[in-house]
Amino acid sequence: MHYKSSIIFLALASALTLTTVSANELPELGDNSATVLSSQQEQAIAEQILRDVAISDEVLQDIEIKDYLQALGARLVANGPDRLQKFNFFVVQDNTINAFAMPGGVIGVHTGLILAANSESELASVLGHEIGHVTQHHLARMLASQKYDTFKNIAGIALALLVSRANPQLASGALTTSMAAGVQKQLDFTREHEREADRVGLQILESGGFDVRAMPAFFNTLQRGTRFAEGNAPGFLRTHPLTTERIADVTNRVEQMSYKRVADSVEFQYVKAKLRASIGTSQSAIDIFEQNIRERSYTNEAAEHYGLAVALLRKNDLVKAEKEAAWLKKNAPLHPMIENLAAHIDVAKNNPQQAEKKYAAALNVFPDNRGLIYGYAEHFLAIKQPDNVIKLVQNKQDLYSDDPYFYDLLAKAYSIKNKELLSHQALGEAYYRKYDLPHAVEQMDLAVKAKDGDFYQNSIVEARLKQLQSMLIDEKKAKL
Ligand SMILES: [Zn+2]
Repeated sequence: MHYKSSIIFLALASALTLTTVSANELPELGDNSATVLSSQQEQAIAEQILRDVAISDEVLQDIEIKDYLQALGARLVANGPDRLQKFNFFVVQDNTINAFAMPGGVIGVHTGLILAANSESELASVLGHEIGHVTQHHLARMLASQKYDTFKNIAGIALALLVSRANPQLASGALTTSMAAGVQKQLDFTREHEREADRVGLQILESGGFDVRAMPAFFNTLQRGTRFAEGNAPGFLRTHPLTTERIADVTNRVEQMSYKRVADSVEFQYVKAKLRASIGTSQSAIDIFEQNIRERSYTNEAAEHYGLAVALLRKNDLVKAEKEAAWLKKNAPLHPMIENLAAHIDVAKNNPQQAEKKYAAALNVFPDNRGLIYGYAEHFLAIKQPDNVIKLVQNKQDLYSDDPYFYDLLAKAYSIKNKELLSHQALGEAYYRKYDLPHAVEQMDLAVKAKDGDFYQNSIVEARLKQLQSMLIDEKKAKL
C-alpha cells in the first residue's frame, strides 16, 4: 500500500548499514534525471528477490494460501494495463497491515493485511494498487534516480528487506541517523506515485469485476490500522501520508463509477479462517472460533467451522477436529481445502488408508489442485512409498513446470530409492526454479559424477550441466 516505498527505504537503509556506506557517500535523493532500469535489470532484481523469498522463514509456504493469492493477483493483472509484465505474489508472515511492490513485479502481502480486509474486493484493491506501482515502474524509477551504481547495490534490497523485518531497530536506526533529510524530499516524490497507483488500481478493480467502493473503504481501515500500530512503527511509517487529498481523490472517482455488490469467494473466507487459526496459541484460536459459532457471529458459517478444525488439528485434538470435518462434509459444498484438511486429520490420526482414499477421491474431482497434490505426495513420502510419489508428481508436473517443490519431492523419493543421479538431478532442477544457479550447477555436477546412471540419463545431465553453467556465467556478467 502506501507504505511500500517506506519498506524500500527500510531496505535501502539497512542495505547501506550492511555494506557500511558512510553518510557522505549517500546518493542524492529525488534526482529525476536518471534513466529507468531496463526490463532485463528489473527481471534480474526480481529473480534475486524471489531467491530470498524461496528460502525465507518469514514467507508463508502454505500452498493453499499462496495459490489463492496468485489466482487473485492473476485475475487482476489480466485486467491491468500491462499484461506482458511478469508478476509474483507472496505472503509474508507478519500480522501488521502492509503490502509492498518490488521491481520486476514481485508483490508481497502481509498476513495482517489479508486479515484486515473486510472483503475480497478490499484485498483486491490493495493488490490493484501495488500492480499499479509495478506497471508504472515507480520503484525502478525511484531506485534508478538514486544513482545506485550497480546491480549489486540495488539487488541488496532483497536481503535487506528481510533483514529489516527481522530487526526493525537496525533499519529505523540507520534511517534516522543518515537518511532522514532525504526521506522528506522523497515523500513528495512518492505522493504522485501513490495517486497514479490508486488510479491504475481502481481501473483494474473495476474491469476485474470487483466492488470499487472497497478502495476508499480500505483506506479507512488502513488509517485505523496505522493508528493502532503507532507504538512500534518507525517514525516515518507513521507519518507516511495517506493524505486526505488521496482519499478524497479516490472517493470522487468511485462516485463517478458504476458499482455493484460483489460476493466474496469461498476461498477468501477459508484462507482468512486458516490464517486466523494460526494466530496466538491454538487454544486461544479455538476459543474464538467456538465463541463465534455459538453466537452466530460470522459472515460464513462453514469458514468458521473450517478455521476451528484447523486450530484443533494444530492443537492435535484429533477427535474434535474430526467432528468439525464431519460437520463440513455434511453442511458445506465440496471444496479442495476441506478435503485436504480431512485427509490431513487422517494422516495425523495415523490412518494412512483413510487418508489415501480421501486424497484419491478429492483429486478425481479437483485434479489440478496443488494443495491436494502436495498433501498426497507428502503422505506417500511419510509412509515410504517413493514410487507412488514419483508417479503422482510426474503425472501432474506439466501443469506446474516452474514449481520447484515438485522437484524437491522427486529428489526425496529418489533418495529413498538410493538413486543418486536422479536425486541430484531433481535437486538441481529445484534450485534452478528457485533462481539459485550456483546450487543448481553444484547439484547437476554431482548428478554427472554419480555412478548409477545409464547412458541416456548421463547424456541428459551432462547437457543440462553445460547449459546451467553458461547461464551462471551470463548471470555473473549481468551483475558486473
Ligand atoms: Zn503505494
